[in-house]
Amino acid sequence: MTVYLDEPLHDEALFSIIGRYRRDIFVSDLMAFLAALTGYRPHFSPLLAYNLQYVADQTSRVWDKSGEQIAQELTLFPYYAALCHDALRSDLLDRCLYRRPGRMPGSLCKLLHQRLHVRYCPSCWREDTLAGLPRYWRRTHQLPGVMVCVDHQVPLRELGRHDRWPVPAPDAPSITLACHFSTDAEMAVQLRVAQLSVDLLHGDPAALHLCTLVDWLAVARDHGYARGRGDLEAKRLVSDIVVHFGEAYLRATGLLPDGAQNWMVGRLYGHQCAPAPLQAILLSTFFSDLQRRTVACPWPNCPNPYASHGPGHRVDAQECHRSITYYYCACGFSFRFATNAEGGREAVIPTVYGPAYAARARELHLCGMSIAAIARTLHVSESCAARLVRGTQHYARRDLDLFGADLATRWLRLVRTQGGIAAAGRADQGLWRRIRRYRPDLLA
Ligand SMILES: [Zn+2]
Ligand SMILES: [Zn+2]
Repeated sequence: MTVYLDEPLHDEALFSIIGRYRRDIFVSDLMAFLAALTGYRPHFSPLLAYNLQYVADQTSRVWDKSGEQIAQELTLFPYYAALCHDALRSDLLDRCLYRRPGRMPGSLCKLLHQRLHVRYCPSCWREDTLAGLPRYWRRTHQLPGVMVCVDHQVPLRELGRHDRWPVPAPDAPSITLACHFSTDAEMAVQLRVAQLSVDLLHGDPAALHLCTLVDWLAVARDHGYARGRGDLEAKRLVSDIVVHFGEAYLRATGLLPDGAQNWMVGRLYGHQCAPAPLQAILLSTFFSDLQRRTVACPWPNCPNPYASHGPGHRVDAQECHRSITYYYCACGFSFRFATNAEGGREAVIPTVYGPAYAARARELHLCGMSIAAIARTLHVSESCAARLVRGTQHYARRDLDLFGADLATRWLRLVRTQGGIAAAGRADQGLWRRIRRYRPDLLA
């Protein structure tokens, strides 16, 4: 039986074409109509559709599309297939083309994000009306984890959990905002997530590369989420990722980490490797935002002009808190970078000036310079210049001497239990590297 469905509109999903047809033709028995179109009585899903070879046969007179073309153009199949290896991809395609009753295998269930929410952008619908088009559901708005429209940069609206085949009608009572974003920064992060998801759906090679090839564990360690090569400060990293995307968003996508062993840690260590696109997109977005902030060099040189180590000295420690990286130098100077809107590094913002600044301030004071003049010379505030001269400035947020002493205690205990320096180094490489950096005297 030929079904005369309408031509698909730009970026329209198959379920939307079915919804419009149902409304326009006044289909009274929906299930009988679906059975004629798809060859069975399908449950509603805004993501994928099944038995598409049958659909292709029923619509061949109007569309002339193969089952695979329907999967590629009218469902989220390309998004789910993007990160799959060849065998898994062809298994998924086969399941979309030919109906196989029974449950999906675990390998496919892990990557599919089952949800029954339908989303739309009010601005897109307004433009459609002005252009004389009917309202319809777009594929890019149904992508899991996409809460904003990339074209209009506004939050999407959502038709709550919907298990019946919805007609594109805006005045249903259960429509809400897909997710609330209170700040511009949260909105900017969401736009990057949405853009990356849309690019993945369209098979953009750069998006594919970003989501697959990078060793995020190494990036995390390089960006201050480890004190040595062998470890990862997973707790701090996970809490920063949660802050980056917002708890409400992660809960809405079902990806709020639960406990110490969660999907973020699992994916970073490579224990979890299902090609699940949303998880890959979230980690890629977080780490590329982090990298953008520290693009030039993860270990910058200490910018303290008065330190005895002179120019070109790498900072000795760095820590990332709430997505801001703080750098600490053994000379007592600590600082962070101001970032521009794109996240690039700009001016140095000192957080602690340290003893070298104080020594310079006292020197100038002994020469008879006023506090105001010292402040201008050192580019600090007058109250800070006064504290430096009086020696009441706190020198380090993290005391490197105390840190070194703590490391030394742990190291000496380890050497005792392992019976020697070489054995201790093999037993805890991270500690050995930190000792080499902060207390090299203990290795002599
Ligand atoms: Zn829009
Ligand atoms: Zn320094």
